[in-house]
Amino acid sequence: MLKIENLTVAIGDKQVLRNINLEIAPGETHVLFGPNGTGKSTLLGTIMGFERYKVVSGKIYFKGKNITDLPCFERAKLGIGVMIQRPPTIRGLSLRKMVELCGAKAEQVDKLAKTMEMQNFLDRSVNEGFSGGELKRAELLQLMAQNPEMLLLDEPESGVDIENIALVGHVAKQIIQGQGHSALIITHLGHILNYVPATHAHILYNGEITCQQDAPMEVLKCIEQSGYSACVAGKCVVDKCASCNNKLCGR
Ligand code: ADP
Ligand code: MG
Repeated sequence: MLKIENLTVAIGDKQVLRNINLEIAPGETHVLFGPNGTGKSTLLGTIMGFERYKVVSGKIYFKGKNITDLPCFERAKLGIGVMIQRPPTIRGLSLRKMVELCGAKAEQVDKLAKTMEMQNFLDRSVNEGFSGGELKRAELLQLMAQNPEMLLLDEPESGVDIENIALVGHVAKQIIQGQGHSALIITHLGHILNYVPATHAHILYNGEITCQQDAPMEVLKCIEQSGYSACVAGKCVVDKCASCNNKLCGR
């Protein structure tokens, strides 16, 4: 579904990501952990094609097609969707119009908005004066309209209360559970993983991917106990079946 090869990325003249390799197969949900400022949002923004991220070298393939030089809107049309960390306010564009632009038919918008408890926000400008939870719900509403095959979530639970995390989690799960859909999720505390079963974990550390394993919850536990550097040093080798509380365990 998504294949990243030897990707090096800069913002201005600052190199942020170095030689990233990552592969996500159809149906897989991957989690990206890592300290602040290490380049996690940069990686998601580069996959989506935001202009401020400059690919210095390397390639990004989506469903076998080289998308490295495609503009953002073309990538969205191909089936990549993102919930960004700090969505901007777009004055003068109503949320209703935005949801239609994302792919919903005009007559579907109210029904979709109801599932996200956003029906009273449709005629306001996108994100204008929205609270933390409302911002994330508005982003997910747009993603429901788009229904992307590859869902990128950048800290979906940050600034969101417990009830809203549940709502965000259930809806994200719905999108990801579409036939062959995949996801890449950035999370610090892992709350979203209580709703969305994830299959693989990676740590982004100093701009490089490391500590790749197939047991996200166990990796998170190890990071909580010993820190990111322990994982980077190879001290978080986890067995996804060790505790048998992982839904993927099968035992
Ligand atoms: P993370 O999401 O892991 O916290 P980011 O990808 O947001 O990290 O940022 C990685 C690095 O790039 C940080 O040092 C950050 O300050 C820098 N950075 C991000 N955006 C910009 C920008 N627009 N201009 C200059 N530096 C930036
Ligand atoms: Mg970030």
